[in-house]
Amino acid sequence: MHSTATLQPTRVLFGAGLRHTVADEVARLGCHKALVLSTPQQCDSAMQVAEALGDKAAGIFARATMHTPVNVTEDAVGHLTDVQADCVIAIGGGSTTGLGKAIAYRTDVPQIVIPTTYAGSEATAILGQTENGIKTTFTDARVQPEVILYDPELVTSLPAAMTVTSALNAIAHAAEALYAQNRTDRSDALAVEGMRHFAEGLPMVLDNPADTVARERTLRGAYACGAVLGQVGMALHHKLCHTLGGSLDLPHADTHAIILPHAIHYNAQAVPGLLAPVTDIFGAPAPGPALHAFATRMNAPLALRDLGVRAADLDRAADLATQKPYPNPAPVTRDGIRTLLQAAWEGTPPQR
Ligand code: NAD
Repeated sequence: MHSTATLQPTRVLFGAGLRHTVADEVARLGCHKALVLSTPQQCDSAMQVAEALGDKAAGIFARATMHTPVNVTEDAVGHLTDVQADCVIAIGGGSTTGLGKAIAYRTDVPQIVIPTTYAGSEATAILGQTENGIKTTFTDARVQPEVILYDPELVTSLPAAMTVTSALNAIAHAAEALYAQNRTDRSDALAVEGMRHFAEGLPMVLDNPADTVARERTLRGAYACGAVLGQVGMALHHKLCHTLGGSLDLPHADTHAIILPHAIHYNAQAVPGLLAPVTDIFGAPAPGPALHAFATRMNAPLALRDLGVRAADLDRAADLATQKPYPNPAPVTRDGIRTLLQAAWEGTPPQR
């Protein structure tokens, strides 16, 4: 799914209140007018950014939505041209970042991203977009954002449930990176760093969601996990989430949260040594059960049936998930995946 791209270094800053510095960042890029992007739900945040931009604001396009539909992107590109914007500022989660990337892919305008979830899309040159119900994912250097402003104050509004599922979505990038075919010492180090930030920062955030120091810690985790996703190929976990999400129309981050312990358990039997950092960080006795125990402590969703998946859907999901071969440390068998899905459906801990 992922190829490598030659990337320009991204300017990455962390700090409370950074969103107020956007006008300086626009000037730094040599740009004059920024179009601010958001979902309809985060239009207020987009308005704050537009206010901070002053005369560098070209307007707001608040129609970002899940799966980056091409028709929305085309409307946004039309708007960008009409208001003569020469850069975009995406404030939001992976869906808004996706819209900014899709605009940059078509126009090559620079992007400033102000992430408000832990999805990590801002740290990659990967774009997934949907046309006629089909999602296509590819890597292109134009898609890599130029500037990322991690402002922990903005993440304090992320509801607890989404805080947890989004964090587990990020941890999934790092866990799968540990056994990627093209992993390197650097990708291993980033994966470990990302998981450690979440293992230590997420419980603090749940104790006090307004704690901006803890929120910054989790944003550092999001950046490390996103950066590693951009560097190496993903395997079973991401393929399964993609198949389940697409065929059963499931929420992205919740699906990641539920599948993660089971997919990692499946592969831990083939590459226990490569997954040893997961137990170092999340605890004994083995990577899958350790992630399940962490997810349970964080009050994450644990069962596919709680997302409305029916037992009768599992056979078809297993068929779809094993149709096309792809690199994975453990052989991907129909029976193995069906057993995995049963445990994920019930929400039981992976069995050793
Ligand atoms: P999202 O961007 O779809 O956001 C979900 C909802 O939460 C939206 O309504 C949003 O407005 C709201 N929201 C976001 N931050 C908030 C905050 N701080 N406070 C209150 N509400 C907030 O969800 P996501 O999980 O961030 O992104 C998922 C998408 O990102 C998927 O489509 C996925 O494929 C994509 N993604 C892409 C990459 C990549 O590298 N291309 C990486 C990870 C994820």
